[in-house]
Amino acid sequence: MSAIKHVWAREILDSRGIPTVETACMLEDGQVCVSSVPAGTSTGTHEALELRDTESARHLGLGVLKAVNNVNSVLGPAVTGMDPVDQFGIDKKLIELDGTENKSKYGANSILSVSEAVTKCGAVSSAQPLYGWIYTLASKVGITQKVKMPIPLFNMINGGKHGAGNLDFQEFWVVPASNKSFIQGLEMGAEIYQTIGNNLAHRGAIHSVGQEGGYAPNLFTNTDAFEVFIESIKETKYSLGRDVFLGLDVAANSFYKDGQYLIRDKSSGMDDFQFLEYYKSLFDQYKLGIIEDAFYEDGWDSWKKMTSELGNGLVIVGDDLLATNIKRVEKAIQEKACNAAIIKPNQIGTITETLKVVKVTKDAGWKVVVSHRSGETNDSFISDFAVGVAADYIKSGAPARGERVAKYNRLAAIETELMQMK
Ligand code: PEP
Ligand code: MG
Repeated sequence: MSAIKHVWAREILDSRGIPTVETACMLEDGQVCVSSVPAGTSTGTHEALELRDTESARHLGLGVLKAVNNVNSVLGPAVTGMDPVDQFGIDKKLIELDGTENKSKYGANSILSVSEAVTKCGAVSSAQPLYGWIYTLASKVGITQKVKMPIPLFNMINGGKHGAGNLDFQEFWVVPASNKSFIQGLEMGAEIYQTIGNNLAHRGAIHSVGQEGGYAPNLFTNTDAFEVFIESIKETKYSLGRDVFLGLDVAANSFYKDGQYLIRDKSSGMDDFQFLEYYKSLFDQYKLGIIEDAFYEDGWDSWKKMTSELGNGLVIVGDDLLATNIKRVEKAIQEKACNAAIIKPNQIGTITETLKVVKVTKDAGWKVVVSHRSGETNDSFISDFAVGVAADYIKSGAPARGERVAKYNRLAAIETELMQMK
């Protein structure tokens, strides 16, 4: 065993230019593993607390020096001397030290950065690739599947809080068919992304790119984005419905107000029932196979209705609804509120808790979607995590921009490595 010798953190910038926490963990044998944590823009209210220096003028109140100090003076010293392969023991210590329901004492950002750095040290200590070590940890919490490559949900057009204010829905996805290898899927995604860019340029509709690297075009309605997809895919050698499918993260929290969903495709707001009917026509027309956050985060009845009426042929994913929180996931399973869960480690704050949520999700027969955040770093931890827990899907934005392709390129490397080992 090579015990943890020293843990230290610092403030770095995420892909939005907003501070986040990076933590390094040094072992007695001199090896150092570094991990940095992402942050959301369209965060749900049920997520663990992200600690920011709100009372300081630095970084407009978004600095994370308190979180950094929490690692340097409390969390790091607490795990010093422990064995990094004891992930569950170390996370237990971090959770107990914080002692709150939502990690509000030390912040989920500081706690997760330590937990993740420890996972990387555990991999190094046990002489395994990171995804292999995560698979070992996953087996220990009772996840039985072997490692597998996830299907990428490429976020080609960004709207909502991630876009330029023109589209209500947050993420418009192109999804490779399940019979493609990850590398084939990445190639298709990259070609379609370029083609969509050319198509938008011809229409004079390119505005910019959004937070996740997808285009943020000045289109008129949400369905215009699907029309652009259909046209663009026709220009490639791929066929919609055979090689690729479409999907959405609606992120409905961001335009739900006073019991109404107001989107620019309709002249007046829709109540939950009308919004469900609207979705049905959208699914028929565009053959969507997967949808995330179709309703706001506490609209349980609408979620249940959609799942009972459409859940057989449609992957219905909860993000803000579930917040990677085991209690909310268990409630959703009991109430049949969806059939898939977004897994974002920073919504809950430790790797142990994240693994337990994956286990519960899989036991229910639901799909698992491991996800990045809109504010990202170049850390590709979630790629190894997705493979190690045998996730069905991964979200890492568009197949463009450094912090997004860091994850996709890591997955391509893992797939190549797995093929070498066959
Ligand atoms: C999402 O809503 O799934 C997402 C990745 O966005 P954010 O990180 O802003 O919550
Ligand atoms: Mg989401």
